[in-house]
Amino acid sequence: MKLSLVVPCYNEVENVAAFQQAVMDAFAGCGYAYEIVFVDDGSRDGTLGELKRLYAQQACPVSVVSFSRNFGKESGLYAGLEHAKGEYISLIDADLQQRPELVRQMVEILDNQPEFDMVAAYQDKRGDGKVLTFFKEGFYRLINRMSSVKLRADASDFRTFRRCVAESILRMPEYHRFSKGIFAWVGYPTCFIPYVACPRAAGTTKWSFRKLFRYAIDGIIGFSTAPLRLATYMGLLSAAAALVYLIVVLLQKLIWGIAVPGYATIIVLILFLGGMQLFCLGLIGEYVGKIFEQSKHRPVYLAREVLLHD
Ligand code: UDP
Ligand code: MG
Repeated sequence: MKLSLVVPCYNEVENVAAFQQAVMDAFAGCGYAYEIVFVDDGSRDGTLGELKRLYAQQACPVSVVSFSRNFGKESGLYAGLEHAKGEYISLIDADLQQRPELVRQMVEILDNQPEFDMVAAYQDKRGDGKVLTFFKEGFYRLINRMSSVKLRADASDFRTFRRCVAESILRMPEYHRFSKGIFAWVGYPTCFIPYVACPRAAGTTKWSFRKLFRYAIDGIIGFSTAPLRLATYMGLLSAAAALVYLIVVLLQKLIWGIAVPGYATIIVLILFLGGMQLFCLGLIGEYVGKIFEQSKHRPVYLAREVLLHD
Protein backbone atom coordinates (compact mmCIF):
# COMPACT_ATOMS: atom_id res chain seq x y z
CA MET A 1 0.00 0.00 0.00
CA LYS A 2 1.49 3.28 -1.10
CA LEU A 3 -0.85 5.86 0.39
CA SER A 4 -3.35 6.07 3.24
CA LEU A 5 -5.78 8.96 3.43
CA VAL A 6 -6.78 9.50 7.04
CA VAL A 7 -10.15 11.24 7.23
CA PRO A 8 -11.74 12.27 10.55
CA CYS A 9 -15.51 12.57 10.19
CA TYR A 10 -17.93 14.10 12.62
CA ASN A 11 -21.49 14.47 11.35
CA GLU A 12 -20.47 14.41 7.71
CA VAL A 13 -23.21 12.16 6.36
CA GLU A 14 -23.69 14.23 3.19
CA ASN A 15 -19.99 14.44 2.49
CA VAL A 16 -18.34 11.05 2.90
CA ALA A 17 -19.61 9.42 -0.31
CA ALA A 18 -18.81 12.54 -2.32
CA PHE A 19 -15.41 12.59 -0.69
CA GLN A 20 -14.67 9.02 -1.68
CA GLN A 21 -15.78 9.77 -5.23
CA ALA A 22 -13.54 12.84 -5.35
CA VAL A 23 -10.60 10.73 -4.16
CA MET A 24 -11.27 8.07 -6.77
CA ASP A 25 -11.48 10.71 -9.48
CA ALA A 26 -8.31 12.40 -8.33
CA PHE A 27 -6.32 9.18 -8.17
CA ALA A 28 -7.66 7.57 -11.32
CA GLY A 29 -4.71 6.18 -13.25
CA CYS A 30 -2.16 7.07 -10.59
CA GLY A 31 -0.64 3.59 -10.81
CA TYR A 32 -0.29 2.91 -7.10
CA ALA A 33 -2.46 1.45 -4.38
CA TYR A 34 -4.19 3.71 -1.89
CA GLU A 35 -6.71 3.32 0.90
CA ILE A 36 -9.06 5.61 2.79
CA VAL A 37 -9.15 5.29 6.58
CA PHE A 38 -12.34 6.95 7.79
CA VAL A 39 -12.58 7.69 11.48
CA ASP A 40 -16.12 8.24 12.67
CA ASP A 41 -15.75 10.52 15.65
CA GLY A 42 -19.00 9.60 17.39
CA SER A 43 -21.25 11.16 14.76
CA ARG A 44 -24.94 11.34 15.49
CA ASP A 45 -26.26 11.80 11.99
CA GLY A 46 -25.85 8.43 10.31
CA THR A 47 -22.30 9.01 9.13
CA LEU A 48 -21.35 5.58 10.44
CA GLY A 49 -24.05 3.85 8.39
CA GLU A 50 -22.85 5.66 5.32
CA LEU A 51 -19.23 4.69 6.04
CA LYS A 52 -20.22 1.05 6.52
CA ARG A 53 -21.93 1.18 3.17
CA LEU A 54 -18.75 2.47 1.55
CA TYR A 55 -16.76 -0.21 3.37
CA ALA A 56 -19.03 -2.98 2.09
CA GLN A 57 -19.03 -1.56 -1.40
CA GLN A 58 -15.22 -1.56 -1.61
CA ALA A 59 -15.17 0.74 -4.63
CA CYS A 60 -11.70 1.43 -3.34
CA PRO A 61 -10.04 0.01 -0.20
CA VAL A 62 -11.81 1.59 2.78
CA SER A 63 -11.25 1.07 6.50
CA VAL A 64 -13.53 2.45 9.17
CA VAL A 65 -12.73 3.11 12.81
CA SER A 66 -15.73 4.21 14.80
CA PHE A 67 -15.44 5.85 18.20
CA SER A 68 -17.62 5.16 21.21
CA ARG A 69 -18.33 8.90 21.44
CA ASN A 70 -17.01 12.21 20.14
CA PHE A 71 -13.33 12.47 21.08
CA GLY A 72 -12.40 15.37 18.80
CA LYS A 73 -10.58 15.63 15.51
CA GLU A 74 -7.15 15.26 17.06
CA SER A 75 -8.02 11.86 18.52
CA GLY A 76 -9.51 10.93 15.17
CA LEU A 77 -6.22 11.66 13.45
CA TYR A 78 -4.39 9.56 16.03
CA ALA A 79 -6.69 6.57 15.49
CA GLY A 80 -6.36 6.97 11.73
CA LEU A 81 -2.57 6.94 11.94
CA GLU A 82 -2.70 3.80 14.05
CA HIS A 83 -4.72 1.96 11.43
CA ALA A 84 -3.13 3.35 8.27
CA LYS A 85 -1.07 0.84 6.33
CA GLY A 86 0.39 3.14 3.69
CA GLU A 87 3.98 4.05 3.10
CA TYR A 88 2.77 7.64 2.86
CA ILE A 89 0.02 8.99 5.04
CA SER A 90 -2.15 11.94 4.26
CA LEU A 91 -4.42 13.83 6.66
CA ILE A 92 -7.41 15.39 5.00
CA ASP A 93 -10.87 16.63 6.04
CA ALA A 94 -14.06 14.95 4.91
CA ASP A 95 -15.81 18.16 3.90
CA LEU A 96 -13.97 18.58 0.56
CA GLN A 97 -12.51 21.91 1.61
CA GLN A 98 -9.17 20.31 0.86
CA ARG A 99 -8.97 18.84 -2.62
CA PRO A 100 -7.68 15.26 -3.03
CA GLU A 101 -5.93 16.38 -6.25
CA LEU A 102 -3.49 18.22 -4.05
CA VAL A 103 -2.69 15.01 -2.19
CA ARG A 104 -1.58 13.52 -5.47
CA GLN A 105 0.80 16.44 -5.91
CA MET A 106 2.07 15.96 -2.38
CA VAL A 107 2.80 12.32 -3.14
CA GLU A 108 4.74 13.37 -6.23
CA ILE A 109 6.83 15.77 -4.18
CA LEU A 110 7.65 13.03 -1.65
CA ASP A 111 8.50 10.67 -4.53
CA ASN A 112 10.80 13.08 -6.30
CA GLN A 113 12.35 14.93 -3.41
CA PRO A 114 13.79 12.51 -0.86
CA GLU A 115 15.11 15.45 1.15
CA PHE A 116 11.56 16.10 2.39
CA ASP A 117 9.68 13.79 4.75
CA MET A 118 6.53 15.86 4.95
CA VAL A 119 4.53 18.09 2.63
CA ALA A 120 2.20 20.52 4.36
CA ALA A 121 -0.36 22.75 2.72
CA TYR A 122 -0.72 26.28 3.96
CA GLN A 123 -3.70 28.47 3.29
CA ASP A 124 -2.96 31.11 0.73
CA LYS A 125 -6.02 33.18 1.44
CA ARG A 126 -7.95 32.68 4.59
CA GLY A 127 -11.64 33.41 4.52
CA ASP A 128 -11.79 34.36 8.21
CA GLY A 129 -13.36 37.57 9.44
CA LYS A 130 -11.31 40.44 10.84
CA VAL A 131 -11.87 39.59 14.50
CA LEU A 132 -10.89 35.94 14.08
CA THR A 133 -7.81 36.89 12.03
CA PHE A 134 -6.78 39.30 14.79
CA PHE A 135 -7.06 36.58 17.43
CA LYS A 136 -5.31 33.99 15.28
CA GLU A 137 -2.38 36.28 14.57
CA GLY A 138 -2.11 37.20 18.23
CA PHE A 139 -2.12 33.53 19.18
CA TYR A 140 0.71 32.63 16.81
CA ARG A 141 2.80 35.56 17.93
CA LEU A 142 2.28 34.54 21.54
CA ILE A 143 2.99 30.83 21.17
CA ASN A 144 6.03 31.34 18.95
CA ARG A 145 7.45 33.69 21.51
CA MET A 146 6.83 31.42 24.47
CA SER A 147 7.51 28.00 23.06
CA SER A 148 10.61 26.45 21.61
CA VAL A 149 8.61 24.88 18.79
CA LYS A 150 7.95 27.31 16.00
CA LEU A 151 4.55 27.19 14.36
CA ARG A 152 3.70 28.54 10.95
CA ALA A 153 0.62 30.69 11.26
CA ASP A 154 -1.04 29.62 8.04
CA ALA A 155 -0.09 25.93 8.00
CA SER A 156 -2.95 23.47 8.31
CA ASP A 157 -3.41 19.86 9.31
CA PHE A 158 -3.70 19.09 5.63
CA ARG A 159 -0.45 17.26 5.00
CA THR A 160 1.18 14.13 3.68
CA PHE A 161 4.18 12.47 5.23
CA ARG A 162 6.28 9.35 5.26
CA ARG A 163 5.73 6.48 7.66
CA CYS A 164 8.62 7.57 9.91
CA VAL A 165 6.75 10.81 10.69
CA ALA A 166 3.55 8.92 11.46
CA GLU A 167 5.42 6.64 13.82
CA SER A 168 6.96 9.61 15.60
CA ILE A 169 3.54 11.19 16.03
CA LEU A 170 2.16 7.94 17.43
CA ARG A 171 4.92 7.96 19.99
CA MET A 172 3.40 11.10 21.49
CA PRO A 173 0.50 9.67 23.46
CA GLU A 174 -0.49 12.94 25.06
CA TYR A 175 -4.09 13.31 26.01
CA HIS A 176 -4.46 16.96 25.01
CA ARG A 177 -3.41 16.82 21.41
CA PHE A 178 -2.56 20.07 19.68
CA SER A 179 -1.64 18.80 16.25
CA LYS A 180 0.04 21.96 14.97
CA GLY A 181 2.42 21.82 17.89
CA ILE A 182 2.91 18.08 17.46
CA PHE A 183 3.89 18.48 13.80
CA ALA A 184 6.32 21.24 14.69
CA TRP A 185 7.72 19.24 17.59
CA VAL A 186 8.45 16.05 15.65
CA GLY A 187 10.26 18.17 13.08
CA TYR A 188 11.40 16.42 9.85
CA PRO A 189 12.17 18.48 6.75
CA THR A 190 8.87 19.86 5.53
CA CYS A 191 7.95 21.27 2.16
CA PHE A 192 5.19 23.90 2.33
CA ILE A 193 2.85 24.31 -0.60
CA PRO A 194 -0.01 26.81 -0.88
CA TYR A 195 -3.65 25.87 -1.22
CA VAL A 196 -6.94 27.70 -1.20
CA ALA A 197 -9.61 26.14 1.00
CA CYS A 198 -12.83 25.56 -0.93
CA PRO A 199 -16.15 26.22 0.74
CA ARG A 200 -17.57 23.31 2.72
CA ALA A 201 -19.41 20.83 0.46
CA ALA A 202 -22.24 20.33 2.98
CA GLY A 203 -22.93 20.59 6.69
CA THR A 204 -21.43 23.15 9.04
CA THR A 205 -18.06 23.75 10.65
CA LYS A 206 -17.56 22.17 14.06
CA TRP A 207 -15.43 24.99 15.39
CA SER A 208 -17.06 27.69 17.43
CA PHE A 209 -15.09 30.65 18.74
CA ARG A 210 -15.21 29.12 22.21
CA LYS A 211 -13.79 25.80 20.99
CA LEU A 212 -11.03 27.60 19.10
CA PHE A 213 -10.16 29.65 22.18
CA ARG A 214 -9.96 26.51 24.32
CA TYR A 215 -7.83 24.87 21.65
CA ALA A 216 -5.48 27.84 21.62
CA ILE A 217 -5.06 27.64 25.41
CA ASP A 218 -4.38 23.89 25.11
CA GLY A 219 -1.75 24.69 22.50
CA ILE A 220 0.07 27.17 24.70
CA ILE A 221 -0.14 25.07 27.86
CA GLY A 222 0.89 21.94 25.96
CA PHE A 223 3.95 23.42 24.33
CA SER A 224 5.28 26.04 26.69
CA THR A 225 5.97 26.45 30.38
CA ALA A 226 6.66 30.16 30.01
CA PRO A 227 3.32 31.18 31.61
CA LEU A 228 4.47 29.52 34.82
CA ARG A 229 7.38 31.91 34.97
CA LEU A 230 5.00 34.85 34.78
CA ALA A 231 4.29 34.57 38.50
CA THR A 232 8.00 34.80 39.29
CA TYR A 233 8.45 37.89 37.15
CA MET A 234 5.39 39.64 38.51
CA GLY A 235 6.40 38.74 42.07
CA LEU A 236 9.86 40.19 41.55
CA LEU A 237 8.44 43.29 39.94
CA SER A 238 5.94 44.02 42.70
CA ALA A 239 8.57 43.30 45.38
CA ALA A 240 10.86 45.85 43.73
CA ALA A 241 8.03 48.37 43.52
CA ALA A 242 7.20 47.78 47.19
CA LEU A 243 10.83 48.38 48.16
CA VAL A 244 10.97 51.67 46.29
CA TYR A 245 7.68 52.74 47.83
CA LEU A 246 8.94 51.82 51.31
CA ILE A 247 11.95 54.05 50.87
CA VAL A 248 9.76 56.92 49.69
CA VAL A 249 7.42 56.57 52.64
CA LEU A 250 10.29 56.36 55.13
CA LEU A 251 11.93 59.46 53.69
CA GLN A 252 8.66 61.36 53.79
CA LYS A 253 8.16 60.41 57.42
CA LEU A 254 11.75 61.13 58.51
CA ILE A 255 12.37 64.33 56.59
CA TRP A 256 8.99 66.00 56.44
CA GLY A 257 7.18 64.13 59.17
CA ILE A 258 4.20 63.41 56.93
CA ALA A 259 2.04 60.44 57.85
CA VAL A 260 0.48 59.47 54.50
CA PRO A 261 -3.24 58.71 54.53
CA GLY A 262 -3.08 55.75 52.18
CA TYR A 263 -6.60 54.35 52.02
CA ALA A 264 -6.94 54.46 48.23
CA THR A 265 -3.42 53.16 47.70
CA ILE A 266 -4.08 50.20 49.97
CA ILE A 267 -7.32 49.27 48.25
CA VAL A 268 -5.72 49.51 44.81
CA LEU A 269 -2.73 47.45 45.89
CA ILE A 270 -4.85 44.79 47.54
CA LEU A 271 -7.01 44.49 44.45
CA PHE A 272 -4.06 44.46 42.11
CA LEU A 273 -2.01 41.93 44.04
CA GLY A 274 -5.05 39.78 44.80
CA GLY A 275 -5.94 39.77 41.13
CA MET A 276 -2.43 38.85 40.11
CA GLN A 277 -2.30 36.04 42.63
CA LEU A 278 -5.57 34.59 41.51
CA PHE A 279 -4.48 34.87 37.89
CA CYS A 280 -1.25 33.01 38.61
CA LEU A 281 -3.09 30.39 40.64
CA GLY A 282 -5.40 29.87 37.71
CA LEU A 283 -2.42 29.47 35.40
CA ILE A 284 -0.84 26.90 37.66
CA GLY A 285 -4.23 25.23 37.87
CA GLU A 286 -4.26 24.85 34.08
CA TYR A 287 -1.01 22.92 34.23
CA VAL A 288 -2.05 20.88 37.25
CA GLY A 289 -5.23 19.97 35.41
CA LYS A 290 -3.22 18.77 32.44
CA ILE A 291 -0.91 16.74 34.68
CA PHE A 292 -3.96 15.24 36.35
CA GLU A 293 -5.51 14.28 33.02
CA GLN A 294 -2.29 12.81 31.73
CA SER A 295 -1.48 10.94 34.94
CA LYS A 296 -4.69 8.96 34.57
CA HIS A 297 -3.23 7.45 31.40
CA ARG A 298 -6.55 7.36 29.70
CA PRO A 299 -6.52 6.27 26.09
CA VAL A 300 -6.68 8.96 23.43
CA TYR A 301 -9.83 7.34 22.04
CA LEU A 302 -12.05 4.29 22.43
CA ALA A 303 -13.10 2.42 19.34
CA ARG A 304 -16.48 0.77 19.24
CA GLU A 305 -15.91 -0.90 15.94
CA VAL A 306 -12.95 -1.29 13.61
CA LEU A 307 -13.50 -2.47 10.05
CA LEU A 308 -10.29 -3.03 8.13
CA HIS A 309 -10.16 -3.89 4.45
CA ASP A 310 -7.83 -6.73 3.54
N1 UDP B 1 -14.04 16.67 13.01
C1 UDP B 1 -13.96 15.54 13.81
N2 UDP B 1 -14.31 15.63 15.13
C2 UDP B 1 -14.74 16.81 15.69
C3 UDP B 1 -14.80 17.96 14.86
C4 UDP B 1 -14.44 17.85 13.53
O1 UDP B 1 -13.56 14.47 13.36
O2 UDP B 1 -15.06 16.83 16.88
C5 UDP B 1 -13.68 16.56 11.57
C6 UDP B 1 -14.74 17.05 10.60
O3 UDP B 1 -15.67 16.04 10.29
C7 UDP B 1 -13.92 17.45 9.38
C8 UDP B 1 -12.62 17.93 10.01
O4 UDP B 1 -12.57 17.38 11.33
O5 UDP B 1 -13.64 16.35 8.53
C9 UDP B 1 -12.54 19.44 10.05
O6 UDP B 1 -13.65 19.96 10.71
P1 UDP B 1 -14.38 21.27 10.21
O7 UDP B 1 -14.59 21.21 8.73
O8 UDP B 1 -15.59 21.45 11.06
O9 UDP B 1 -13.32 22.38 10.55
P2 UDP B 1 -12.92 23.64 9.65
O10 UDP B 1 -12.65 23.12 8.26
O11 UDP B 1 -14.09 24.54 9.70
O12 UDP B 1 -11.70 24.16 10.32
MG1 MG C 1 -13.81 22.11 7.15
